[in-house]
Amino acid sequence: MEDARELLRKYYGYPDFREGQKPVIASVLERRDTLGIMPTGGGKSVCYQVPAMMLNGTTIVISPLISLMKDQVDGLDSIGVPATYINSSLSYSQVETRIRKAARGEYKLLYVAPERLESERFLGLLTELTVPMVAVDEAHCVSQWGHDFRPSYMRISELVSQLRGRPQIAAFTATATDQVQEDIIRHLQLRDAGVFVTGFARENLSFTVVKGENKRDVLTSYIREHRDEAGIVYAATRKEVDQVCEFLKKQGVSAGRYHAGMSDKERAEAQEQFLYDEVRVMVASNAFGMGIDKSNVRYVIHYNMPKNMEAYYQEAGRAGRDGEPSDCLLLFSPQDILIQKFLIEQSVAAPERQQQEYRRVQQMADYCHTTQCLQRHIVRYFGADLEQDCGQCSNCASPDMEMTDITLEAQQIFSCVRRMRERFGVTLVASVLKGSRNKKVLDFGFDELSTYGLMKQRTEKEIVDLIQLLVAEGYLQLAEGKYPTVSLTPLATEVLVPGGARVVQRIRNKPAAPVVKD
Ligand code: ADP
Repeated sequence: MEDARELLRKYYGYPDFREGQKPVIASVLERRDTLGIMPTGGGKSVCYQVPAMMLNGTTIVISPLISLMKDQVDGLDSIGVPATYINSSLSYSQVETRIRKAARGEYKLLYVAPERLESERFLGLLTELTVPMVAVDEAHCVSQWGHDFRPSYMRISELVSQLRGRPQIAAFTATATDQVQEDIIRHLQLRDAGVFVTGFARENLSFTVVKGENKRDVLTSYIREHRDEAGIVYAATRKEVDQVCEFLKKQGVSAGRYHAGMSDKERAEAQEQFLYDEVRVMVASNAFGMGIDKSNVRYVIHYNMPKNMEAYYQEAGRAGRDGEPSDCLLLFSPQDILIQKFLIEQSVAAPERQQQEYRRVQQMADYCHTTQCLQRHIVRYFGADLEQDCGQCSNCASPDMEMTDITLEAQQIFSCVRRMRERFGVTLVASVLKGSRNKKVLDFGFDELSTYGLMKQRTEKEIVDLIQLLVAEGYLQLAEGKYPTVSLTPLATEVLVPGGARVVQRIRNKPAAPVVKD
């Protein structure tokens, strides 16, 4: 490890590995197959580049993005590490020359686009090399559960098996769901792999969820206050991108737009203008970002709730890649959940896949409803934890939040859900607790339940918020699907037993009533 640190200092000029990188590098250096799950910007590259410099032979790096490949190789060139790439931008003779040089051991790293692995002849050429390690970047592309499945990633294990002496595999991704993780291990045929979920906390990012406010007002006032800074505004649909961009321009904001409905040329221009600070704010769909490396993005605003936590964190994580304090705002409205569900419904995915996507939308909504530290909520989602709350997200920093014991309210809600046999949605449960006389309540005879009207002193909206909070904190769960029914989890059962667990929540206090002077 000391040797690796020395190389890091000498070639990259960094004093030490980041905490998140250390266990990954240690595992790679032990020559174990390794799966490193780290967020975008977490510093995956050095986790295979530094070991590659220490190993005998040429490490093959599978990377899906041609532009990134070139950037990486240029970067390595500039610090004096011999590396090259092979992809469709080269002629056949250029490819052969590079392979020949590689066979002579002239490169420490050889970047290869996965599509190349489809060619038997090309695979044959690679078998001439001494390859101690195959590094797989964006390894989630091997999984159909991930968001960018690439069939050619399925060829990687074949490559590995053809190479002499079964090189070790080091795979990296920012996608951390169990399913994707399992797929990576299975399809890449990792052996006894060290798996590390690490570095998901981004201390320089302050997360904020804004609910129940006019999105355009919040957007303009934020951007006005950060006039000289670069930021990205993500919107859910192309139409919304166009509208928000027009709106900002009318407000005198230097804004550009980017979405998949624009021509390649238009998109390239928009990207350039943003990279070179000719426009301050990029309004974009989720098509924008994979592969952009602009380090001084000071804020990322989600105008709509994205489809899942991975997508959110990846997009929000484009703020502050230079380590400077940056903001990530999510402007939530309940309508956003409907948009995402609609998009799933319209998709051609298999039914079980759709169910899974609905569940992921719900997890995203949980993030919007939680009153916990937002950074902690994210890190926990990715399977890690924080030592302490971040102290700077909108939940941590909110002066009107305080710890409140809501055990009684929680018990009332849980017992109502149970009496309704866990077969109905949030709205109806709230109506029953409120003691509403709406038709559905009466038709089902819910006005006969002992829990009917138990929370009549609250508004239905408050009750819905409380239920959503209890979902977000894992006491209640919503069934997957378009019309989610609410049911109890084992955590709720522990609260219902006499003398059982208590529910303590950070609750937003109601603002004090304005003093009316006459
Ligand atoms: P990823 O591929 O995980 O998105 P990169 O490998 O591009 O991230 O690294 C993100 C940034 O962090 C780069 O600018 C990189 O040079 C920097 N970086 C990586 N490791 C360290 C380190 N140990 N100390 C300081 N900066 C680092």
